[in-house]
Amino acid sequence: MNRRFFISSSSAVGGFAILSRLPSWAQPNDGKILDGTLAVSPHPNPLNDIHDKGTFECAACELPLFSSAQKFDSGTGWPSFWAPIKKENIIEEVDKTLGMVRTEVACARCEGHLGHVFDDGPKPTGLRYCMNGVAMKFVKQG
Ligand SMILES: [Zn+2]
Repeated sequence: MNRRFFISSSSAVGGFAILSRLPSWAQPNDGKILDGTLAVSPHPNPLNDIHDKGTFECAACELPLFSSAQKFDSGTGWPSFWAPIKKENIIEEVDKTLGMVRTEVACARCEGHLGHVFDDGPKPTGLRYCMNGVAMKFVKQG
């Protein structure tokens, strides 16, 4: 191995090591921000493609959280709603992680994390509840 090849290949390895120490959301070539809330998720989240009538319940304790009547297609790949079924069924808490101020949404009964709420949603509320489909299960009306 000649010396020049050794130097260039070791600096490439060093650069790679620096990149891999960044949190996954900060790495280049990965448009996804944690939770998928600021960017389009490359993989559609479970429950996003549900268009049947029914109720979205907490996956952990089955408390009804959202209804298909308030679901809308936000284009993010994450199931999104402009209002919960009942305001008292969810907890909203300010989350300042990742250098952003977001409002975290959790289940009011078991405090399971569900997603975040943003103020860029459609009428009538102007809210966008961006939920993680893994944290909920869909119960079809029937
Ligand atoms: Zn719950």
